[in-house]
Amino acid sequence: MASELERVAQAPDLLVALDFDGTVSPLVDDPAESRLVPAAAAAIARLRALPRTWVAFVSGRPLASLARVTGADDDALLIGSHGVEVRIGGAIADLGLSAEERGRLVALESKLAPIVAGVPEAYLEHKPVGFGVHTRRVRDKSLVPGLHAAARTAAADVGGFTERDGKDILEFSVRDVTKGDGVRALRELLGDEAQGDVTVVYAGDDVTDEDAFAVLGPGDLGVKVGPGETRAAERVADVPAFAEWLTRLADAREASVSAD
Ligand SMILES: [Mg+2]
Repeated sequence: MASELERVAQAPDLLVALDFDGTVSPLVDDPAESRLVPAAAAAIARLRALPRTWVAFVSGRPLASLARVTGADDDALLIGSHGVEVRIGGAIADLGLSAEERGRLVALESKLAPIVAGVPEAYLEHKPVGFGVHTRRVRDKSLVPGLHAAARTAAADVGGFTERDGKDILEFSVRDVTKGDGVRALRELLGDEAQGDVTVVYAGDDVTDEDAFAVLGPGDLGVKVGPGETRAAERVADVPAFAEWLTRLADAREASVSAD
């Protein structure tokens, strides 16, 4: 494990792309209360301070929410809504929703709202290009399969939605974009600034992160946080273990840069 970490730490140009929830912050009941664990925040600050080293967050959260919980400054690289929203150097890519897409969002909301309201502690999150049906707080978990089935039927009735199944959330999006597209966009963007190919480290804990692992090349490195099937080459046990991994990466990168 140390050797892969050492290898990427010595890459000429390094992008560290991180999922947020469940990767650098513990999963909590109220998503607004999520924060980076201090050890991860410290490692990220050290990495960002190094030359030819970039840190980006790639999340299913709406961009505004991601910016808030990460405490991102204007220079931060942020990918929100699973790759739909991109903020680079303070500039936000326009979502450019068509009237037709907006119409479908309104139609689905009118169907989902009463379905979700019918299940105690479930809630509907309005996202820039879709909806999240949250079930983390639902105490009677036997109600979740029925809720999901009804929500899927509603989305199928309206039509044209991409579905994503995550931890305690079922999402419907009018845009068929993934975290893999987000990582590709970051790599292209940094390709102009970097001198050669950018080496990417991507870390995530959820099913949607597999799309990002899938676009990694042989020189890149995927790190899966926690249990579950993955195509990532490395795995760490949990959020604190990943914060330690990031700290070791910062140590190795600092050593590599000062040796140049
Ligand atoms: Mg996550």
